[in-house]
Amino acid sequence: MNFKSIVDLLTYFSDETKAVEYYENIRWGDEPACPHCGSVKPYKTNRGYKCREKECHKKFTVRTGTIFENSKIPFRVWFAAIYLATSSSKGVSSVQLARQVGVTQKTAWFVLHRIREMLKDKAPTMLGEKSAVEADEAYIGQKDQNKHFNKRRSADNKLLTNDGSPYKDKRAVLGVIERNGKVVLKHVPNATKENMVAFIEKHVPKGSKLYTDEFRGYASLGRTYDHATVKHALNVYVAGDVHTNTIENFWSILKRGLYGIYHSVSDKHLERYLDEFAARFNNRLLGEEGKFVKFLEDSESPLSYKRLTGRPV
Ligand SMILES: [Zn+2]
Repeated sequence: MNFKSIVDLLTYFSDETKAVEYYENIRWGDEPACPHCGSVKPYKTNRGYKCREKECHKKFTVRTGTIFENSKIPFRVWFAAIYLATSSSKGVSSVQLARQVGVTQKTAWFVLHRIREMLKDKAPTMLGEKSAVEADEAYIGQKDQNKHFNKRRSADNKLLTNDGSPYKDKRAVLGVIERNGKVVLKHVPNATKENMVAFIEKHVPKGSKLYTDEFRGYASLGRTYDHATVKHALNVYVAGDVHTNTIENFWSILKRGLYGIYHSVSDKHLERYLDEFAARFNNRLLGEEGKFVKFLEDSESPLSYKRLTGRPV
């Protein structure tokens, strides 16, 4: 295929049959498998396939058990949406997507949420085996989004903005990032010491080189990690290798994206947006088409899979 733009992609997939074949090849190779029981070599029908197993005998299409299930939206719209949502570092809003591919905003919103489900990392990512890791917390707010703050805290440990007023409407996001590598994010109700330590221990193997700021939530990490802290309170931001610039840069991409494109993100959806930003960042070195294929390979829906098999994934 070798597409380099949205126009190339829409032209290539203007024929739905061609798009179905393309996706069948990515999902199954040349051997379609029943998503209900896993049996291969089904009958081909007018609309898709029928399972050959006596106990099963169910109909399915290439969409069954994927993020495309129960949707009549043509693949070219889905594919264009995946391309647009993953090719720029900030993503695309439902308003922009609706305009660019000619669907309603409601359809675009549905499509983008399904795509975020696809982008969610299915297994815990481990960081720090090859390079140093930085951990930090960020606060995503709606009302105070334009106020700068450097994690100042009041005497009773409340966050303060730079003008000394309390930081309202905060939602804490924890992040760990490898220098020149991947990021993992989590939305937590509070950036407590327990939340931070549990999150870091889940994603960073013991003994790794770890950099954080001097916030006291991180103080105990020295027992498990080769831990060094940046003295932000003393206005020291870089001391040799000791800095948290990698994660600070990531926070600025995330905040510009969330505030610029999505305007305000409800609590309920923040986790999904975080998945989207992490997936884009973690696959940034793949080419446009490489990224597209990689994401399509992950498009089997964990929700559908769980529903179909009764097993958690
Ligand atoms: Zn079957």
